[in-house]
Order: sequence, then C-alpha cells, then structure tokens
Amino acid sequence: MQIEVVRLQDMFSAIAQAMAREKERLCELDGVIGDADHGIAMELGFSAAAKAVAALDPVSSDPTAVFNTAAKSFLSAVGASSGPLYATALMRAGAAVKGKISLTDNDMVDAFEAMAKGIQERGKAEPGEKTMVDAWAPAAAAARSAQLGGKPLVACLKAALDAAASGAEATKEMVATKGRSSRLGDRVIGHMDPGAASAVVLIDTIAHSFDA
Ligand SMILES: [Mg+2]
Repeated sequence: MQIEVVRLQDMFSAIAQAMAREKERLCELDGVIGDADHGIAMELGFSAAAKAVAALDPVSSDPTAVFNTAAKSFLSAVGASSGPLYATALMRAGAAVKGKISLTDNDMVDAFEAMAKGIQERGKAEPGEKTMVDAWAPAAAAARSAQLGGKPLVACLKAALDAAASGAEATKEMVATKGRSSRLGDRVIGHMDPGAASAVVLIDTIAHSFDA
C-alpha cells in the first residue's frame, strides 16, 4: 500500500475522534491511580495535533512534516507527562520516514516501531512497570515480527493491536514503580494503567485507518 499525506491526515482525525469518545473512561482509569486527567490530556493533545495536521497542504507536505507538526501541537497542548512522551514518539516517527513522499507498508511499520522506542526511551520505562510501555513494547515487536513474516500492513497492525491489548490487560496485575501511582503500592493491583489503555485506543485507530 502507498500511504499518502492525506491518509495520515485522516488517521490523525480518526485518533482525535477516538480519544474524544474514550475520554471519560480514560479519566476514570486515571482517577483510580492518579489525578483523573489522562483522558483530557489525550483528547486535548490529539485534537490539537489533528487540527494542525489538517491545515497542512497535502501537496507540498511530506509524511515527516505531518508527524513533526503533530508532535509540536501535542506538546504545546498537553502539560501532563503524556505530552513529552507522545511528542517524542511522533518526532521519532517523522525521523524514521524522513525524505519519503509517501509510505510503504514497511515504512509505516518503521514509523510505528520508532514511536514505541521513543516512548520507552523518553519515559525510561521497561515492560512490567505498569506504564504505556506495557502496551507499546509488545505492540511494536508484534508489528515487526509480522512484517518480517511478509504480512501486509493491516495484518501487522492487527498483530500490534492484539499484543497491545494483552499488554494493557497484564498491567492490572502489576504494581507501579514509576510516577505518582508508585506511591500507592498494592492498591493499584486490579486496575489497568490508563496510559496502556489509551495506547490500545491509539493503536486500534491506527490499525483501522489502513484497513479500507
Ligand atoms: Mg494523570
């Protein structure tokens, strides 16, 4: 598949809509272990990103410009910890596809993997610490493994979604070692990490952006 700028603009618009739909659920999850603002941050960040990206001229802009514009808008809209994490993820996606006019399946998997690595490096988190990395790291590994197995992009992203959903589910049994929720100890057991939950929403929407 050849992914043009217009398709990426549509993807960001779909992500913004998904975050608006899931805002309350994400805030409720965050309320259990944090300050109940995660859904607000994700909705604010991706609506700002989608708006800025939609304003780009699809003829004179390349995919890197789309990701970089999304990153900058996300960062200025979000003060919470997810701001720099997703801004880094989107900048890394832009860098991964630098110089390309449109993206192939492999390019998109490269961008996806770069997002996951960016989040992990910026947050200095490892899997098992009850963070969004518990969804992103297995998702990126699954996408890459499917791509190396010769699967088309939609199948790679579907594999990523399944891995992200399992990873997010697994955070319920984890104790947090990073951030505010680490002070709550065992009390967070039984609750899904909100950052992992929003990662699943995001990956689900990215996967659906390329299935038609
Ligand atoms: Mg919060």
